[in-house]
Amino acid sequence: MFDVAILGAGVSGSALAYQLSRFHLDVVVLEKENDVSLGASRANTAIVHGGYDPPPDTLMGHLNVDGARMCMELVDRLDVEFRKTGSLIVAFDDEDMKEVHNLYDRGLQNGVPSMEILDGEEVSRREPNLSKEIIGALWVPESGVINPWEFTLAMMEVAVREGVELKLCEKVIGLKRQDKGFLIETERGTYSARYVVNATGVHSEKIHNMVAEPAFHIHPTRGQYYLLDRSVGEVVNSVVFQCPSPLGKGVLVSPTIHYNTLVGPDSEVVEDCENTSTTREALDDVARQAKRSVPSLQLGSNIRNFAGVRANSDYGDFYIKISAPYFLDIAAIKSPGLTCAPRIATYAIELLREAGLDFKEKETWDGTRSVVRFKEIPEEEREAFIRENPLYGRVICRCETITEGEIVAAIHRPITPVSLDGIKRRAGTGMGRCQSGFCGPRVLEILARETGKATEDILQDKEGSHILIGDTKEGRV
Ligand SMILES: Cc1cc2nc3c(=O)[nH]c(=O)nc-3n(C[C@H](O)[C@H](O)[C@H](O)COP(=O)(O)OP(=O)(O)OC[C@H]3O[C@@H](n4cnc5c(N)ncnc54)[C@H](O)[C@@H]3O)c2cc1C
Repeated sequence: MFDVAILGAGVSGSALAYQLSRFHLDVVVLEKENDVSLGASRANTAIVHGGYDPPPDTLMGHLNVDGARMCMELVDRLDVEFRKTGSLIVAFDDEDMKEVHNLYDRGLQNGVPSMEILDGEEVSRREPNLSKEIIGALWVPESGVINPWEFTLAMMEVAVREGVELKLCEKVIGLKRQDKGFLIETERGTYSARYVVNATGVHSEKIHNMVAEPAFHIHPTRGQYYLLDRSVGEVVNSVVFQCPSPLGKGVLVSPTIHYNTLVGPDSEVVEDCENTSTTREALDDVARQAKRSVPSLQLGSNIRNFAGVRANSDYGDFYIKISAPYFLDIAAIKSPGLTCAPRIATYAIELLREAGLDFKEKETWDGTRSVVRFKEIPEEEREAFIRENPLYGRVICRCETITEGEIVAAIHRPITPVSLDGIKRRAGTGMGRCQSGFCGPRVLEILARETGKATEDILQDKEGSHILIGDTKEGRV
């Protein structure tokens, strides 16, 4: 029997797995997909929010500032891509300016450090591409952009290396109370665990309702984006928000960790909580709103559209509670869930401790990780590096300058990828202008070679997303 079963390997489940791996506990993570971070944690705006937005009397308000600080510490420990760009919340008229002052006050209550209110001239000096109609802004320096799936994977990789068991393709379909804990039924088998943690994102209502009275209702809320090619240059230096509305933080224009420009998201309640398709109407609306902030925005340089689905709920806050004996909900984790994840994990540990779980720290625990990014190695050291491992001398992804050495290293880290998108999330291949049109086939061959699989067995992304047609061990696909 496991001490703890975490259901869901998004950023919430992975952050908790990471924190639990420092203790003498048998922990299992059950994830329905074939990799970590395939829910909201891979398709979001990727911002480490400063903490001025959530109401101070909410859990979101309590956890945000600590969460942001912990993210910024963890990116160093885990070697995760992050840029501390700061954020601007711009005002177009006096009404907006009132909102900017409200956000400033709210930020003070939430403990956000070093905020400033800027006038239009100062905004224009810092961000020359912004609309000249902007009359002022809130400046939040303690915020930035992160690689969200790398962050999630890095925490889970360390957790697995430090003893947590990760079981992929294990969709939980039933939970039964046993004498001492739960019997967890998945589509492929059963597991026993004393404590169960529900970190299943947009599906968290369903899992909650298996063991407790209904307490919240998820309204899956889709957001759509444009990702612009680097050739448009650095359109903005910081994350540029408009004033938030009841629907969310609004459409923003933001730099990414890879110096592209991200534009979006809108906010639309959808029936199917896994509906990540994009639509012409929504993207047109995103474009219209974004051009209000940056009139010269060149959306013709778009290299990818994508969508993510938020676990918004009628509860209006994160739902993090011991909802039944031995059952902890980390549910309805909407924005700023990515930012708060590390702090949600330590808060969850406080709740599990109060619920009777014993925490005995391991004598040795290594909470760090590092990766090689060949393009960041100084010119003068590259030759020696390649001499030692010639695979680093072979560039596979030309757009992003990713070498075979990086791809092979990513495959042999603690969580083996099974798809081209799995390599993309680990090594960064296919992130550039060609969107893997050139490197895709070569990455496929390397992944098949290194994992001993047939090329026909390599997937694009989730289960069933075969790329090549042919005979596999399981039959014809
Ligand atoms: C459009 C958008 C923009 C956002 N922007 C930001 C931002 O800029 N900054 C920020 O801080 N936050 C942002 N967020 C919020 C943030 O992305 C989420 O709060 C966070 O990723 C939620 O993580 P999670 O682990 O709770 O859920 P998820 O990442 O969705 O993970 C849940 C996991 O549970 C698995 N699962 C579900 N059902 C089962 C089952 N039955 N059995 C086993 N596994 C199951 C899923 O496959 C998934 O892997 C945004 C969200 C969206 C959608």
